[in-house]
Amino acid sequence: MQTPDNFQHFKAGFIAVVGRPNVGKSTLINELIGQKLSITSHKPQTTRHRINAINSTDEYQMVLVDTPGIHIGNKRALNSYMNKTASSSLVGVDVVLWLLDSHHFTKEDERVLEHIKTVECPVICCLNKIDKFNTKPDILKQLTKLAQFHQGEIIPISAFNKKDVAYLKNHIIGLLPQQAPIFDPDYLTDRSDKFIVAEFIREKLMRRLSDELPYGATVEIEHFKQENGLYRISAKILVERDSQKRIVIGKQGQMLKDIGTDARKNIEDFLNSKVYLKLWVKTQENWSDDKRSLRSLGYD
Ligand code: GDP
Ligand code: MG
Repeated sequence: MQTPDNFQHFKAGFIAVVGRPNVGKSTLINELIGQKLSITSHKPQTTRHRINAINSTDEYQMVLVDTPGIHIGNKRALNSYMNKTASSSLVGVDVVLWLLDSHHFTKEDERVLEHIKTVECPVICCLNKIDKFNTKPDILKQLTKLAQFHQGEIIPISAFNKKDVAYLKNHIIGLLPQQAPIFDPDYLTDRSDKFIVAEFIREKLMRRLSDELPYGATVEIEHFKQENGLYRISAKILVERDSQKRIVIGKQGQMLKDIGTDARKNIEDFLNSKVYLKLWVKTQENWSDDKRSLRSLGYD
């Protein structure tokens, strides 16, 4: 392990990963740090909070900042919280990683670009999901199109391709300043285990109930206790309407059971321990548009 006086060759810094919803930011971060930390789904706006994902070795420490996608949403308090979190995450970082979906450049990407133009640190523009293209000329065509929006290198990748991710990672590390680690190298994230567990449960909800449950759900951990080599966790799923509550519970409770089973597997991997997980559902009208309940749920 490094000691403080031999850090002169150590590189460390914050990398903000920005882009419109659904381009693959959280997926890429999990691949870059080699561990599932940030939740993903095919639904836009899965990520609601800023999360720092930390990857440390003897040579470098990357602190990847996952952000909710900057988006043109409605005026609900939750939406405005998400946009604020996303744009404030550009302040004080060492590198900005701007992620695009290789198939579409949209109005929302242009909105992100406006934010990016204001930063002073290096910006890496990364074209994700190239595995969806059939041929190399198709990729080239898209890269040429993008060159009018971004001067400088554009790196085409698939977040699912290990070689692409390794190349990108080297490129990022090359741009980090020389300094001592920012966080304890043993830390994977600056978020608590409780927070990550609640996010895992929310991910399963979003994945299983894709269209029936638009954003009107959140998760609150009520008990989180380790005893006799086992974590006992109980969590409340908050929805906005009774009709949503019925959907989450499912026929004879099957949906809730399935969500619990999926989530428990992730949580056991993450906590490296057996887990007893209890879930229940409660209706709380308008939680996503009520500033006070947002605060009590940690959207601060
Ligand atoms: P975020 O909203 O930007 O954080 O996006 P997510 O990481 O949640 O990913 C959105 C969706 O895109 C998920 O269904 C991912 O599995 C998918 N995805 C991410 N990266 C890639 C990629 O390189 N190729 C393909 N085909 N899909 C990807
Ligand atoms: Mg995300």
